[in-house]
Amino acid sequence: MCMIRSRAQQLNISLIDKQDKECTVKIKALADTRLRLIDDASRTVVPGPATSILGLARSVAFAWICALPHEMTAASSALDITHDKLPQSTTDHNTYLLGEVCGHKVVVTCLPAGVYGTTAAASAVSQLRSAFPAIRFGLLVGVGGGVPTRENDIRLGDIVVSIPTQTLSGVIPYDIGKATAGGGFERLGALNRPPDVTLTAVAQLRAAYLAGNGHISRIISDILCKTPYLRRTHSRPGPEKDQLFDATYEHSSFDDSTCARCDRGRLVARTPRPSDDPQVHYGLIASGNLVIKDGCTRDRLARSLGNICFEMEAAGVVNIIPTLVIRGICDYSDSHKNNTWQAYAALAAVAYAKELLSCR
Ligand SMILES: [Zn+2]
Repeated sequence: MCMIRSRAQQLNISLIDKQDKECTVKIKALADTRLRLIDDASRTVVPGPATSILGLARSVAFAWICALPHEMTAASSALDITHDKLPQSTTDHNTYLLGEVCGHKVVVTCLPAGVYGTTAAASAVSQLRSAFPAIRFGLLVGVGGGVPTRENDIRLGDIVVSIPTQTLSGVIPYDIGKATAGGGFERLGALNRPPDVTLTAVAQLRAAYLAGNGHISRIISDILCKTPYLRRTHSRPGPEKDQLFDATYEHSSFDDSTCARCDRGRLVARTPRPSDDPQVHYGLIASGNLVIKDGCTRDRLARSLGNICFEMEAAGVVNIIPTLVIRGICDYSDSHKNNTWQAYAALAAVAYAKELLSCR
């Protein structure tokens, strides 16, 4: 059949051909933008499958959320695969790292530098939700202040995991509420439970630990072995640096970040542990915008709330993305708190998160 094309049709076909060629060029460029797998042992880049990064980003269901840069550094060291950097909106000030850990696609997110507290965390996680609309679960992995009691022998470098009770979701906002008659305080603000899929994995891991089959120490050793620069910053401080003072005894000098001038006679006597293996504690985590830096306040709040850890982001996160909170204990929420244990505690929390993600 003889086809007679009008001038308009010819122009249209010509335009389509041009668009096809441009499209072909774009597809080729995309194919050339291969994902790179970073081998943990050598940190060298090796070629990976030609997959669209944007397509990968759209399919990521797990968010790994950090608040501090050294928490993100530790998190990035736990990734088995790291993908190319994502294009990002200029109005989004979060830091993102797309990767895979134990077969799970994850986006590691760090809040903007210098941003603290539940309100800032909520804003940052809302940005994360917009950038990665398929996100369904979160792990909030970082450091927190412990509440050591006779019942919970929490030490620095241990890990606390948020677990719901019959009436509470696992995270308690300690600074949202209203004053009541007689000087009382009624706490408000219902928060979401951790997602069931993470609680199932926690139960599985908890059973493994009860049977003596935990691997946190090995995971920490593996990460430090494969990542030499972390050995300088994230290694475990010596046991002499873990000092718990009587709650009523205040730090001796606020000019000195160490407790070198504090009265060792006011230390709480504790039985040395047989090993440096971090122990995992499960319970309620209190979250708010106020820094708890006083032993008596810590104990008073904990008696009221029943929590075993304080931190400053979870209450802003869990109602936006259902999240399990994992905190490495870096201080005792008292006036003696300093940064000595922060990096190691962050790494311990990362090791627990990685072990959790290895549960099937
Ligand atoms: Zn001190």
